[in-house]
Amino acid sequence: MHYLSTRGGIAPIGFTDAVMMGLASDGGLLVPAEIPQIDPPTLRAWSALRFQDLALEIMTPFVGNEIPRHELKILIESAYSSFTHPEITPVIKAGDLNILELFHGPTAAFKDVALQFLGNLFEYLLARDGGQLNIVGATSGDTGSAAIDGVRGKSGIQIFILHPKGRVSPIQERQMTTVLDANVHNIAVRGTFDDAQNIVKALFNDLSFKSAYQLGAVNSINWARILAQTVYYFYAWGRMTGGDSTQQISFAVPTGNFGDVFAGYLAKRMGLPIDRLIIATNRNDILTRFVNTGIYAVGDTVYQTLSPAMDIQIASNFERYLYFLYDGDAAQIRALLADLQTTGQLTVDAAHQAQVRIDFDAKAASDVETLAQIQATEAASGYILCPHTAVGVHAAQNQSNCVCLATAHPAKFNDAVQNAIGREAPLPSSLQGLMEKESRCIELAATVDAVKAHLEEALSPTTR
Ligand SMILES: *Cc1c(COP(=O)(O)O)cnc(C)c1O
Repeated sequence: MHYLSTRGGIAPIGFTDAVMMGLASDGGLLVPAEIPQIDPPTLRAWSALRFQDLALEIMTPFVGNEIPRHELKILIESAYSSFTHPEITPVIKAGDLNILELFHGPTAAFKDVALQFLGNLFEYLLARDGGQLNIVGATSGDTGSAAIDGVRGKSGIQIFILHPKGRVSPIQERQMTTVLDANVHNIAVRGTFDDAQNIVKALFNDLSFKSAYQLGAVNSINWARILAQTVYYFYAWGRMTGGDSTQQISFAVPTGNFGDVFAGYLAKRMGLPIDRLIIATNRNDILTRFVNTGIYAVGDTVYQTLSPAMDIQIASNFERYLYFLYDGDAAQIRALLADLQTTGQLTVDAAHQAQVRIDFDAKAASDVETLAQIQATEAASGYILCPHTAVGVHAAQNQSNCVCLATAHPAKFNDAVQNAIGREAPLPSSLQGLMEKESRCIELAATVDAVKAHLEEALSPTTR
């Protein structure tokens, strides 16, 4: 399997290079040159597999011959051994709802599904090919802890996660800072999330610094993350249908950067019988507006909502969908992105807009609607939704044979839960005792120089 850039500016590369490159060197996103097609007999056979074995089958054609099958199997088995549910991503019935629970990993959010695997994959590739990876990222909450947990204790990898001091929830802060492995570096910057993100951007834009210190990212544009997320669409479909390929299932997907729902789109393009893919957004509704109007227009501001992991202005995986929508015509993608760059919006023509509406439904929920959904679901079935999941369930209304993706454990967002139903969700074992644990974090001024100096110090051969 070869990988290309959505912007057409790189020669085809293999899976290993695509994973290590992250973002394509021409600024585009990496996409597979073709999409493997899964026929009905194979779908039936796969529906009987456990999650890990299914993951091995789905990943094999994308990995090609770059990793021997038995070694890929070990990476997958070990990634999901940290999950507390035997099914990894079970489908639960809650009243009329089918909930695909994606939060049984170590940090209780769906990002674990991809990042537990990506951490293993990085470690394996670095050990095999040589080299060092220094991951630098900024977080306002979920991604930081999932990334830290994915690479803690892995050789060849150091991780530096910046968070705005005092501005992430206490649970989220403790999830990061109580990880004491020597390769984990938590940095609280005295500033906002935007300050932290701007510092990280500045470090990556300093190309000589970036290459001298082998900086890398683990953001949702890495192809391996999409691939790992594709697995649970197949898994849930198998649980719902028993492998009968005449049966279609719809999915409601709480959406921010479009990584999760793009994985669903990929599953559909591979031949999984998916009826509707529902993009569920909060008040930050650029994607909902796009599906409904064909215009992708950046808003003035990012609104803070009760579903903070979906508070985005631009969806970083959206370019991958555009690429497939335009049948891999990179020149068209470049033109559309140039429009976006210069005018703050891009518009697809009527024919393509019709295709968008075939590919997706979309619906936005306000905070009031989110709380009402948590309340209504709890009243109907006793099941407690996290606010992100509630946005998805809200969007799924009136859709039959639908699976709603549950992207975080409700106890991570107990302020909203308390507000909706007057009590908190019980903590899962992974979140218990966090406040009592030992923690480690350094505090820095919110300046590029302060962070750079810290990285240089931490990565100098004498201190490592
Ligand atoms: C990241 C995240 C999302 C959004 O997923 P995308 O792949 O960015 O669309 C939804 N819910 C939770 C809890 C998340 O952490």
